[in-house]
Amino acid sequence: MAKKKGSIEVITGPMFSGKTEELIRRVARAEIAKIPYALFKPMFDTRYSENEIVSHDNKILSAKPVMNAKEILGFSIDADIIGIDEAQFFNQELIDTCVKLANGGVRVIVAGLDMDYLSKPFQPIPNIIGVADQVTKLKAICVECGEDAGFTHRINKKEEKQLMLGEKNSYEPLCRTCFGKYVKM
Ligand code: ZN
Repeated sequence: MAKKKGSIEVITGPMFSGKTEELIRRVARAEIAKIPYALFKPMFDTRYSENEIVSHDNKILSAKPVMNAKEILGFSIDADIIGIDEAQFFNQELIDTCVKLANGGVRVIVAGLDMDYLSKPFQPIPNIIGVADQVTKLKAICVECGEDAGFTHRINKKEEKQLMLGEKNSYEPLCRTCFGKYVKM
């Protein structure tokens, strides 16, 4: 494992920008190339299926739910590519985990939200971006004006937690101008 060149890639952007689709696309290429990979997601992301990553357009790959970022290290011994979905739900340990894996020769691909529904930086993604080799910031489409959307607007304001689970009916992507009509930035 030590001879391979490790790296950290971040796929980020608002909800509905296709982060999981892009993660699946990159990992599926590894599968075709017969490169051993492992996919992880936070334990409580049970929106769809316990052991799978399912994109909004229903592409499916199996993913191991883990309680915390450190657990990923223990499950990653044979993998040359590690994919981590919904990474905003891990704590700052994820940075150390990603760096350790990359230094050990693993290509680490992290997908997650960079901002919460108030447009505040959503850790640990901004800190992972700081140590990443490559960052892809995707855009959704503003549901109000059709421009590129970089913000996630919460429609249902009952909960005040930063935590967001991706229920389509609770959130919508907006551009900066439209988002600014609802949330003071
Ligand atoms: Zn707009």
